[in-house]
Amino acid sequence: MLINALQAQEHGADILTRTEVVDVYSDGYGWHVMVRDHIENTDQKLRCKVLVNAAGPWVSQLHAKLMGDEASYKLRLVKGSHIVLPKLHDQDNAFLLQHHDGRVIFVIPYLGKYSLVGTTEEEYEGDLDKPTISDAERDYLIAIVNLYFKNSVSRSDVVGSYSGIRPLIESEGTAATKVSRDYKLHLDKKPSPQLSVYGGKVTTYRVLAEQVMNQLGPFFPRTRGSWTKRATLPGGDFELSENLFQDLASQYSWLRPDIIKRWQRSYGTLAFKILKNTRSMGDMGVCFGANLYQREVDYLCEHEWAHTAEDILWRRTKLGYQFSDREVESLSNYLSQSRDAA
Ligand SMILES: Cc1cc2nc3c(=O)[nH]c(=O)nc-3n(C[C@H](O)[C@H](O)[C@H](O)COP(=O)(O)OP(=O)(O)OC[C@H]3O[C@@H](n4cnc5c(N)ncnc54)[C@H](O)[C@@H]3O)c2cc1C
Repeated sequence: MLINALQAQEHGADILTRTEVVDVYSDGYGWHVMVRDHIENTDQKLRCKVLVNAAGPWVSQLHAKLMGDEASYKLRLVKGSHIVLPKLHDQDNAFLLQHHDGRVIFVIPYLGKYSLVGTTEEEYEGDLDKPTISDAERDYLIAIVNLYFKNSVSRSDVVGSYSGIRPLIESEGTAATKVSRDYKLHLDKKPSPQLSVYGGKVTTYRVLAEQVMNQLGPFFPRTRGSWTKRATLPGGDFELSENLFQDLASQYSWLRPDIIKRWQRSYGTLAFKILKNTRSMGDMGVCFGANLYQREVDYLCEHEWAHTAEDILWRRTKLGYQFSDREVESLSNYLSQSRDAA
């Protein structure tokens, strides 16, 4: 997701993270949008010609709040959770396993040392900001591991979990597992153009985005046609990951292979940008733990909108699994000192 924001920025977009749209109104010529910066605690007013509501599970409630009328599609909110276990098998392959209820669950190698098991499907009515795994979901995922793997696991083996909310388009009387994963777009031309995106999947996001732009094209007569089909995302301009690994290893022979491997996967060719002008491990700065060095932290803050230790350890690198409380604290202290100095 983040890499798309980076690409949009390269093409002139302003990216405002941790910034909430709190109010909008149309003057007939376009929109006035009130946004709240939750870091600085400040509000500002922006102007735009067209408004796109792509707020995922929040799309309907945001539409109702901002437009004062019902959203065009009713959403069915379905929570999905994953658990992280110590590595269940040594091979590189993933498994798709069928549970007693007929649903398919994946078990995939995760971050070298772990296995990721998911997902569940549970109707959801709670706080959209904080979905967490329930005991029933945890037990359901543990049960499938114990059904198929030789070594059995229990709740105490679970080292982590995460959950998300799928915004599915409601079709009355259909079980959550059977509700379509398709998406719908709805465009209102009056009082000013406003398009909402309901549902969708990561696998179809580029087609979805192209269709959005096709619908919005008439409002922006100077836009050129689609160009993303053959364009790589930032850092994705390489053929084989093995070759990229070799290129990095030969140009930066002093850099530890496990760092090269992680960076090659996380940043692709942007790793060269992070390493610019470095000549030895000494240029990598302080190590905060688990081979996370100041050089990478500074890059994430300067270029990928990281702000907190949580952003870096969970949202960008997933090194949180390997960090002790003391290491997290030292990283947090460094980040707040850097912010104060800026
Ligand atoms: C458990 C689970 C498993 C999934 N598995 C798959 C899969 O295997 N394959 C697949 O292709 N897809 C899968 N998906 C679907 C995929 O994750 C979603 O389609 C995708 O994340 C949707 O992206 P989005 O940008 O539309 O919405 P989101 O990623 O939800 O982003 C919406 C954004 O809007 C922001 N927002 C909300 N309100 C406001 C406001 N007032 N002002 C400013 N911003 C606001 C939110 O903060 C959020 O960042 C899965 C989803 C879940 C939950």
